[in-house]
Amino acid sequence: MSVIKTITVMGATGSIGQSTLALVRQFPELFSAQALVAGSDAEGLAALAREFRPKMIGLHDLTKLDQLRTALADIDVEIIAGEAGCTQIAASPVDMVVAGIVGIAGLPSVLAAVQAGQTIALANKEALVSAGGLVMREAARCGAHILPVDSEHNAVFQCWQGWNGHASKHAAQADTDVLSHICLTASGGPFLHTPLDDLPAMTPQQAVRHPNWTMGQKISVDSATMMNKGLEVIEAYWLFGLQPDQIEVLIHPQQAVHGMVYFRDGSVLAQLAGADMRTPISYALAWPERLHWADTRLDLAAIGQLSFEAVDMQRFPCFALARQALRDGGAAPAILNAANEVAVAAFLQGKIAFTRIAAVVDTVLGQSASAQIDSLEAVMAIDAASRDLALAAVTKNQSYLSDQCF
Ligand code: NAD
Ligand code: MG
Repeated sequence: MSVIKTITVMGATGSIGQSTLALVRQFPELFSAQALVAGSDAEGLAALAREFRPKMIGLHDLTKLDQLRTALADIDVEIIAGEAGCTQIAASPVDMVVAGIVGIAGLPSVLAAVQAGQTIALANKEALVSAGGLVMREAARCGAHILPVDSEHNAVFQCWQGWNGHASKHAAQADTDVLSHICLTASGGPFLHTPLDDLPAMTPQQAVRHPNWTMGQKISVDSATMMNKGLEVIEAYWLFGLQPDQIEVLIHPQQAVHGMVYFRDGSVLAQLAGADMRTPISYALAWPERLHWADTRLDLAAIGQLSFEAVDMQRFPCFALARQALRDGGAAPAILNAANEVAVAAFLQGKIAFTRIAAVVDTVLGQSASAQIDSLEAVMAIDAASRDLALAAVTKNQSYLSDQCF
């Protein structure tokens, strides 16, 4: 790379944002942070602005705007706030937008970046789960490019790119004449071997203690329920243009293999790496080149054995619900996502038992009518209605806090 790439980091204070900025910090001659956006962490955003000196920063939470302005009074930086401010930043031209906001909260900015024809390194899977058809259609219409950052999708992208060369500017859309299917691996999370009877009593602290990765709270709980892998199947459906039954998932506790591509000649390409999001992020940032950012090697001899097993649907009902939502299509994935966001937040607040997350999602899916998702407003309306249903289901489920199982 000869010219400095300008980068906007949406969700700069989060886990993906921090990993991205660690690479920007390491390679000042390659990358420059032009804009940084956060939700409500004014203090964290101010510290990042002081270090990276972006042109613009955005804070979603208007109530923290004064705090941010005061903290940066001596710095020359444009400060924008609120939803409109964050989408304005996402649409401001840069070489790459890293979409690292968590939840559907990231959808407006992903769509704004897409409609501005930007190149997007996408971590925010919920945007594709809730509005994949809309996002991909707009990407094609506006000439935007989406590079997958989620490690499994990045792995598939790498395997597919490895075969297809780097000629195509389009990240997604596999050629199913030569590809038969893909596989996303899953760690199985912290409760892979917990006796089923013990699952209802699992605490938020236990749920967020992921065996391999350090991530934000929401995705950590999603990994424990395996809703995360369900969301990733839906994400892969939109990214790669495959049928649901062409997206296989295997539990692979060692998390060395992140994704595989099966070709019709019998060959299988796999991508292996350690559990560090800087690997997929660096691949997206430098694409189509590779960064030499670490000298650590994946030590397969130390790992010893790689094992793979099918997903146990009884243990992971959220995974089954997500697969069903994809088959149902229409608004079902958006409803699933909204209900899950509410249920996970309720679990983290100690309001419902771990196993009730799936119960809430199931209830809301059962109560919702099908609807068309053809605009951002339509998605947000479905999201809001599903959240109301989920909150009601949470209230109902609170009384079952000590129930034994879903
Ligand atoms: P996180 O909770 O650590 O960080 C979320 C970031 O989003 C924070 O900077 C927060 O301030 C910001 N944010 C929240 N609401 C916002 C709003 N309304 N407007 C603007 N900013 C807002 O989350 P994370 O673990 O970094 O995950 C981010 C996304 O990346 C998720 O969609 C997750 O599924 C995906 N992802 C994460 C990892 C990982 O290792 N953390 C891996 C793969 C995919
Ligand atoms: Mg992932």
